[in-house]
Amino acid sequence: MAIKNKYPIGILGATGMVGQRFIQLLERHPWFEIAWLGASDRSSGKPYGEAARWRLDTPLPGRIARMTVAPADPLAAPPGNEPAPKIIFAALDAAIARDLEPRFAQAGCAVVSNSSAYRMAANVPLVIPEINAEHLHLIEEQPSRRQSGGYMVTNPNCSTIGLVMALKPIEQRFGISEIFVTTMQAVSGAGYPGVPSMDILGNVVPYIGSEEEKMEAETLKLLGRLEGHAVTPLAARISASCNRVAVEDGHTESVSIKLARPATREELLAAWDEFRPLAGQQLPTAPDQPVQWAPENDRPQPRLDRNRGNGMAVTVGRLRPCGVLDWKFTVLSHNTIRGAAGAAILNAELLASLGKLEPGA
Ligand code: NAP
Repeated sequence: MAIKNKYPIGILGATGMVGQRFIQLLERHPWFEIAWLGASDRSSGKPYGEAARWRLDTPLPGRIARMTVAPADPLAAPPGNEPAPKIIFAALDAAIARDLEPRFAQAGCAVVSNSSAYRMAANVPLVIPEINAEHLHLIEEQPSRRQSGGYMVTNPNCSTIGLVMALKPIEQRFGISEIFVTTMQAVSGAGYPGVPSMDILGNVVPYIGSEEEKMEAETLKLLGRLEGHAVTPLAARISASCNRVAVEDGHTESVSIKLARPATREELLAAWDEFRPLAGQQLPTAPDQPVQWAPENDRPQPRLDRNRGNGMAVTVGRLRPCGVLDWKFTVLSHNTIRGAAGAAILNAELLASLGKLEPGA
């Protein structure tokens, strides 16, 4: 898709962990240009460089550091600045998103959200472009769409996304009836400062609030079918166990599955290898090979594999027969890129390619 003028975009929750990833990934984006940064009253009115504690390993761009953080209000503007643009990437806590995201949608914005607040709402699409792009039709079911043109689109939880990317190529060829997944999740998944170092160093915390419920429900919605005005979830049984481990970035998951129809190891490897549903669409953030196989016995590993496909590919390895279900394997994904900011950016690229970001579209 040729873009003449870049779309101006805003980032809501711009000072947080995911907000910073948005800035890093969007700074040289060919289609989107950062025009607005919003955060809490603690930050608004300050230059971004002063309001945010930059935590990423690339320098904070000077242009962004000088931008004034705006209040989290679709109509307010800092002195000398424009109000929020009509495309908003949102990286807010769910409790805050529940109130703020609909306000931006009602003001006519396309809200591309990371938060869990509306992921399971019947009229809000929960989308991974490689998996269920057709679910985007749900935006037409939102009242704000009819009133102002605005709408909300969400991406899944950071632990769900790796699992679903690995399951989809198998599910579409062989069907899946049962899923067991155990996660080893990085500390960056809890935002900054996250889990206190005294709690996590040399330790594993076998509880992440609401994570297991989110993983189970979101996986079945993502793999479900759009029927009429709603998604019918995949009819599979799923059990998730979520753990926080002393890893900086990259969620690792051990997965066991029962198939509806038998498959050989070679057939499963081929399903992953041949899975390229976005080929030819030229979405800038889409990895060429979204599910990558690591043949070594001791891979994937967070430090070695999380940046494959610029952090947008998931890596699978250790495929072997399961003594209880049919097959088991390991999957790894980058939680703040593929699991958060990168996922939302890819969703926005898909919306742009479908003409859904044009004013009045
Ligand atoms: P975070 O580091 O705590 O950042 C939260 C952001 O929200 C900050 O910019 C903060 O601004 C802003 N904020 C807080 N209260 C606000 C208010 N009342 N009004 C407006 N803005 C407010 O959190 P995070 O890790 O970036 O996560 C953001 C969202 O993404 C969460 O819903 C999280 O579950 C989701 N998510 C995170 C990950 C991950 O790997 N970290 C992955 C997937 C999804 P101030 O700096 O001004 O307080």
